Amino acid sequence: MTGAGTPAEALSDIEALTRKLVAFDTINPPGREAEAMRYCAELLASIGFDCRLTEHGEGRSSLVAQRGPEGGLVFSGHLDTVPLGRAPWTQPPHEGRVVDGRLYGRGSSDMKGGVAAFLVAAARASCDAGTGIILTAGEETGCDGARWLAEAGALPKAGAIVVGESTDNQPLCGHKGALWLKLAAEGRTAHGATPALGVNAIAAMAPTLARLCAFDPAVRHPQMGAATCNLGTIRAGINVNSVPDLCELAVDLRSVEGITHAALRDAIRALCDDGIRIETLLDLPAVWTDPEDPWFAAAAATARAVTGQADRLSCATYFTDASILKPALGEPPVMILGPGSMDQPHGTDEYVRLSRLAEAVEIYAALISSAG
Ligand SMILES: [Zn+2]
Repeated sequence: MTGAGTPAEALSDIEALTRKLVAFDTINPPGREAEAMRYCAELLASIGFDCRLTEHGEGRSSLVAQRGPEGGLVFSGHLDTVPLGRAPWTQPPHEGRVVDGRLYGRGSSDMKGGVAAFLVAAARASCDAGTGIILTAGEETGCDGARWLAEAGALPKAGAIVVGESTDNQPLCGHKGALWLKLAAEGRTAHGATPALGVNAIAAMAPTLARLCAFDPAVRHPQMGAATCNLGTIRAGINVNSVPDLCELAVDLRSVEGITHAALRDAIRALCDDGIRIETLLDLPAVWTDPEDPWFAAAAATARAVTGQADRLSCATYFTDASILKPALGEPPVMILGPGSMDQPHGTDEYVRLSRLAEAVEIYAALISSAG
């Protein structure tokens, strides 16, 4: 056992368990989630979960845990965190120090507090018709762990998914998708004084660039908003007195329910001149569940009864492992709900409120028990 105390003690104290998870340095890159993953597996095994760890190379793994039959509720979380950033912290980032009801540390909000709440709720639930917990590595770098699990065929089927990302315990219906494309035009280099001897890659990209600047996916979802296109980076040339032989453009498309990434890629392709190569850098589909879905509506009512909050939002601004897990687990309804606060994950002095942690345990335990 890596932690102090017995599994039963660890699973009875949400504050101490969050602190324990924050103490594992799982900054990604490089990740190193395996030790924290093993610790969670030991705790879950102690309360009847069948735990399967999938290795992703040295020091990295993801966990699929199941108690009872598959096909019920599945909780999704990740154990990696983003780096600390350049600004100095006023609180130690891996101690989980509590000040004024806030537990500070990298990953406290995004999303070790949510993961700790899954575990404590699973230990506390009064009955259970079958619960899965999927903890991934490498989420922050583009849902890598979830993708690796899907490719390995290591995922169960689910009747519903709760993603414990930061929402201040508000039930959110989904998030936009992200499709990042790299476009490349090639030329032939020559001395800048004799441009006629070369082929200028910037000039080769220019007509396509002009069309992309005017591109609008023209798809709008009533709750998710509009699909968007942003030209994020452009790189070409090594110096002013050479003809550039390569021009690369990175495009960030954000999708909504109603347009597939294949259709978006085709639309971009149609704007490109012949000879321009397209490479996919990231492909995470949008996630959306109708708030009228019977499971979603009941679960949202459970959450509201605990928090007393009226829903303010329906969509998260970030993407989650659900982009991979929803299709891989059989397209069940998805709710994004977690104790972290939406305005400061990834920031300096990240924290989670103890009051939100306690609420999340109560909500998750009620969801497990009501499925029983
Ligand atoms: Zn996260």
